Amino acid sequence: MPTPSASDLSSIVIVGAGLAGAQTAAALRKHGFEGRLTVLGAEGLPPYDRPPLSKELLKRTEPVWLADDLGVDLTALADDLRLADPAVRLEVDRERALVRTSSGDDVAADAVVLACGSAAVRPAGWDAAITLHTAADAERLRAALVPGMRLVVVGAGWIGAEVAGVAAGAGARVTVVEAGPAPLERQLGRKVGGLLAPWYEDAGVTLVTDVAVDQVLPGTRENPEDGARVTLADGRVLDADLVLAAVGARPASGWLSGSLPLESNGGLRVNRAGRLMGLHSPTDPAGRLHLDALRRVWAVGDIATREHPVFGPVPGGHWSAALHDPDATVRALLGLDERAAEPEHVRARLGLAPVPAHAPYVFSQQLGHDLALFGVPSPFDEVVLRGAPAPSGGPVASEPLAAGRPVAAGGWAALYLENALDRHPRRTPDGHRVATVRAVLLVDSPREVGQVRKLMNRGMPLEVDLTRALDPTIKLKDATV
Ligand SMILES: Cc1cc2nc3c(=O)[nH]c(=O)nc-3n(C[C@H](O)[C@H](O)[C@H](O)COP(=O)(O)OP(=O)(O)OC[C@H]3O[C@@H](n4cnc5c(N)ncnc54)[C@H](O)[C@@H]3O)c2cc1C
Repeated sequence: MPTPSASDLSSIVIVGAGLAGAQTAAALRKHGFEGRLTVLGAEGLPPYDRPPLSKELLKRTEPVWLADDLGVDLTALADDLRLADPAVRLEVDRERALVRTSSGDDVAADAVVLACGSAAVRPAGWDAAITLHTAADAERLRAALVPGMRLVVVGAGWIGAEVAGVAAGAGARVTVVEAGPAPLERQLGRKVGGLLAPWYEDAGVTLVTDVAVDQVLPGTRENPEDGARVTLADGRVLDADLVLAAVGARPASGWLSGSLPLESNGGLRVNRAGRLMGLHSPTDPAGRLHLDALRRVWAVGDIATREHPVFGPVPGGHWSAALHDPDATVRALLGLDERAAEPEHVRARLGLAPVPAHAPYVFSQQLGHDLALFGVPSPFDEVVLRGAPAPSGGPVASEPLAAGRPVAAGGWAALYLENALDRHPRRTPDGHRVATVRAVLLVDSPREVGQVRKLMNRGMPLEVDLTRALDPTIKLKDATV
């Protein structure tokens, strides 16, 4: 049976009223879906943008509403909008999807789009730590950040680094504890992470690496009634007025266990079009859904691990994926693009236009620096630098951007090269090595972002003349082969 066509679908339910949910609703109406649309949310708030919660924690005291920012207004798009009635159970069979909500209602629909995002991780035993994922979390953190207060941030990842910089800038005494050997080591590798470490001292933040946090308990040693204390694996104890756990996020899929096959990270594995793929695990009855039932389930945004033509399965966690992917998913769901999951060479043979393949993209402003990461670095990649990081020390020298935000002078980039096992790598006619770039990290190089995005979004591997690619006076696009 083919995917139900637009005319077969008279009702759709979207679970999640964040960026991906809002974009799905907008795309459904844009592509002509006139049936009944239900949107379920959990926070009691209209959709808003999360990146400013850390980057502009103190500058923006109100959420950045997507209705203002993107013009996506769920009240106009949905027939039934319930912003504080989360889904608690899903049953899906060959005939329909049935979503039970926390208020006890059952919402039946022809298809369900899961856009329920992720939730911040707070490890067991860290009861006194707060996390930063929602507007309410940001409000709590903002209220506590006064000059002189002691903030301990656990985790030198994207969000930990951003908050540490903002808090230190506001006069807080900030310590960041990182279990790995360097900031962002898990995301960017040790070599690049080591280059970011001096930024902490430059910004007045104490960075403690190579030590895990055991517990975060209420009350400091001098005052058991107030603040929190962080016990480290090496026996040290840090007293704090506030502790932020910034150790990652996990798909908000707990409510789906037993209904759908989940990956080990809690994500939902979907094909290029965003349709659920059945995982065949003999121990998980949810993995034995009938194909006609699977065809009713779609997932977008942070909850989805989506197949990418170049990078393979890419777990969620990218704002740009939540922004862009719903359009292709809705086109496939409505039957406007019947072969959306086919590889590009098959689509080309059928005379179909390529499906946009946005490379995974993360942006960050942290500790006075600007980062943009395209692609997926792997621990097995060879990492080479294009340009050199400026020596650390002193405040960030600035070059004003259009938005008026200063960035450090002296941009550089890291290229993550696929580790060619071939003992005779390809060469250009000039004898230069040809390398496949899996990821590009741009640091303080806002003017390079546009061209690198274009190169990485072409939906095919980026191959470069390595000698030219490492010369920062040559544009990366002029180093491609
Ligand atoms: C502080 C912060 C900074 C970030 N900065 C960046 C950045 O710089 N760059 C970047 O690429 N990404 C960044 N991200 C990640 C980015 O915001 C996400 O990738 C994006 O928001 C994903 O959108 P989404 O709609 O899939 O999920 P979400 O934004 O998480 O929205 C999902 C919504 O679904 C709701 N929900 C959950 N469960 C249910 C349920 N059972 N029923 C109904 N509703 C439910 C949730 O409450 C939530 O409102 C940041 C995230 C945070 C928290």
